[in-house]
Amino acid sequence: MEQNEILILFDIDGTLVSGARCHYQAFVNAVKKFYHMEEDISGINYAGKTDPQILMEVLQLGGFNEEEIEKNFQNCLDYMAKYYLKNVYNENTRSLDGVNELLRELQKKGVLLGLVTGNLETIAYAKLGKVGLDGYFSFGGFGSDHHDRSYLVKKALNRAQTSFGYKGKHIFVIGDTPRDVKAAKASNLITIGVATGKYSQEELKNCGADYVLENLKNKDEILEIINKV
Ligand SMILES: [Mg+2]
Repeated sequence: MEQNEILILFDIDGTLVSGARCHYQAFVNAVKKFYHMEEDISGINYAGKTDPQILMEVLQLGGFNEEEIEKNFQNCLDYMAKYYLKNVYNENTRSLDGVNELLRELQKKGVLLGLVTGNLETIAYAKLGKVGLDGYFSFGGFGSDHHDRSYLVKKALNRAQTSFGYKGKHIFVIGDTPRDVKAAKASNLITIGVATGKYSQEELKNCGADYVLENLKNKDEILEIINKV
């Protein structure tokens, strides 16, 4: 098969990179500014959730009602993006082992690369930029598009088709959480779970991932999977 018939959509946190201290601080400071909320939000499970979904949970934890949440919700998201850009120098993100080599190889082979991430688009590119991975991606589905991750997958597919003329049918989603797998399955895509986040290979397999990997260190493992279809 021609490699340019292949599209791979990557999650960011726990898949391409680890560390999101500044991203976390963006939530803390946004709800402090607009809701004077000082509760400890470190107990929330953020894995695989979109930024608007997380913000909603944070504000619900703070006891705000629907009307109060609605009032400053977009202001909070806008502020988070601004805060992130201003403080990204302080972000503790690092790219996971093998990721740069893998992306370089896929790009060289003409595989179309995109993102599906719950990060707001501004935060996604700044975070990847911090570790020099932003140049591999020119489109995706982002938390700034919608709060529902399965919609982000559809959005990324739509952008691949309309902006890049993608007409192929061999589409893979690589992510580190059951939420990545579930969202991709809603569009009948092939899923590769990678156990570099909070979830084990077994957990990812059990939630329906078609393939699971310990990490992305061995690029031949990925190439073998995508060449099978
Ligand atoms: Mg993730």
